[in-house]
Amino acid sequence: MEQFDLIVIGGGSGGVRAARIAASHGASVALAEEFRMGGTCVIRGCVPKKLMVYASRFAQEFKEAAGFGWTLEKPLLQWSTLKTRRDAEVARLEGVYRSNLQNAGVHILEGRATLVDRQTVALSNGQRFQAKHILIATGAQPEAGPAIPGHDLAIDSNGFFDLQAMPRRVVVQGAGYIALELASVLHLLGAEVTVVARGQQILRGFDEEMRQHLAAEMARNGLQFRFGREVQAIARSEEALAVQLDNGDTLAANCVLRALGRRPNTNGLGLEALGIALDSKGAISVDDFSQTTVPGIYAVGDVTNRVNLTPMAIREGHAFADTVFGSKPRRVDHTLVPTAVFTTPEAGVVGLTEEQALKSHPRLDVYRANFRPLKATLSGHPGRMLLKLLVDRDTDLVLGFHAVGPDTGEMAQLMGVALQLKATKAALDATLAVHPTAAEELVTMRTPTVRHNL
Ligand code: FAD
Ligand code: NDP
Repeated sequence: MEQFDLIVIGGGSGGVRAARIAASHGASVALAEEFRMGGTCVIRGCVPKKLMVYASRFAQEFKEAAGFGWTLEKPLLQWSTLKTRRDAEVARLEGVYRSNLQNAGVHILEGRATLVDRQTVALSNGQRFQAKHILIATGAQPEAGPAIPGHDLAIDSNGFFDLQAMPRRVVVQGAGYIALELASVLHLLGAEVTVVARGQQILRGFDEEMRQHLAAEMARNGLQFRFGREVQAIARSEEALAVQLDNGDTLAANCVLRALGRRPNTNGLGLEALGIALDSKGAISVDDFSQTTVPGIYAVGDVTNRVNLTPMAIREGHAFADTVFGSKPRRVDHTLVPTAVFTTPEAGVVGLTEEQALKSHPRLDVYRANFRPLKATLSGHPGRMLLKLLVDRDTDLVLGFHAVGPDTGEMAQLMGVALQLKATKAALDATLAVHPTAAEELVTMRTPTVRHNL
């Protein structure tokens, strides 16, 4: 049996980074992938999603251009061209991931891998390999949700990327990142979209004011929301799908997209037999160094259900490789995570929400700018931006940034640096504005709009 220092199961964000870094530390590494190299992010997540977001935003730009004097013929989207070009880019990236691994000296194993014992991995073709260390980086898959009648008529986010034609009437169930991003893309591209959410607001866990602002802006753009509603059944009628809600209403659609969260890929890997502990959601339990309850077996990324974002999977994979093969023990900090929701308008966030901050820092000042961006003065777009900073009055530390509007994802990245450096409000005030930008509001907000516990 061929022996390695490390076998990685899963060629996604976390697995690829771990394999390459371990190899750079001198380890002999094999990586098993059952589908396509690059994983969710590259093949059917972040990258093709963001390309679809770009595609959709042209529709808005074309409309706004009139206010700047442009006359355009009626723009027409060729879905098949978009899909072909997007898929080609994904295939190119897949090739880059593969060659990066090969150039790093990683041995690629094609097929589904399962664990046989603490040091042995079996591939679907029957081959077996051994390693002193095994890293499980198998990611997650769309949660199927309750098996309502007609659930097989709906698609999930994987199905979204396979759509051969632009659907005209869409019902999206769920109100998390994926539901909203894909709803927003389809809506801007011209579909009539209704989002059905079981809760009373979108994006549970995000800053309350940001949630309200984003939902209001999306609704202002024409996206429809049905809050506090469950989908009870989906049926095929002659020309469309009939989506039955729990209040008796029926929505007609020709595409139903369910985005109800994601389930860690732990089934059938042989984990239970080895005594690898899983949590109640089926995610692998790990310690601060990503080690499972079985020594020598580690897990990173979505399969551990800590913070399910690509940069976190990469960070965890890198830290694992440095710890185990680079003699540089590294814990990953799962707090202070900058993130963006790529709806239109998009939302950018880092740090504590107002609700969280109030629990630990009751003497909280809230600085808020709510305004129409300069571009809107000529484009006529009625949308308003929200930029919000949370500041601890005693220490002057900036605890949170929450924003809705163009480029707020980019802002979240840079505010992430500021918060990482423990920026004070005084430091923001001392920073010169870049004029005219929307982000300049972040360094020119002088007076708190709310002062908790004054
Ligand atoms: P994955 O990338 O899922 O990789 C796991 C790999 O393991 C897969 O390639 C799979 O085929 C393989 N595998 C599974 N089981 C086996 C087995 N037994 N044997 C061999 N191979 C196996 N995150 C962001 O930060 N920004 C975004 O904008 C963003 N957008 C997203 C949009 C969508 C629609 C989705 C679904 C996710 C998005 N994410 C985004 C989340 C991000 O994609 C994940 O957090 C990230 O891909 C997790 O990386 P991972 O390495 O843990 O797993
Ligand atoms: P989320 O956990 O973000 O959202 C799941 C949604 O489904 C919630 O609105 C939830 O409602 C709802 N839901 C769950 N179960 C049911 C049910 N049985 N019936 C009705 N509604 C239900 O998951 P996503 O799938 O949207 O995304 C998964 C993860 O992928 C994200 O959390 C994020 O980490 C990552 N991601 C990141 C992106 C980015 O960085 N831009 C983009 C896309 C994904 P409720 O709130 O009531 O629980």
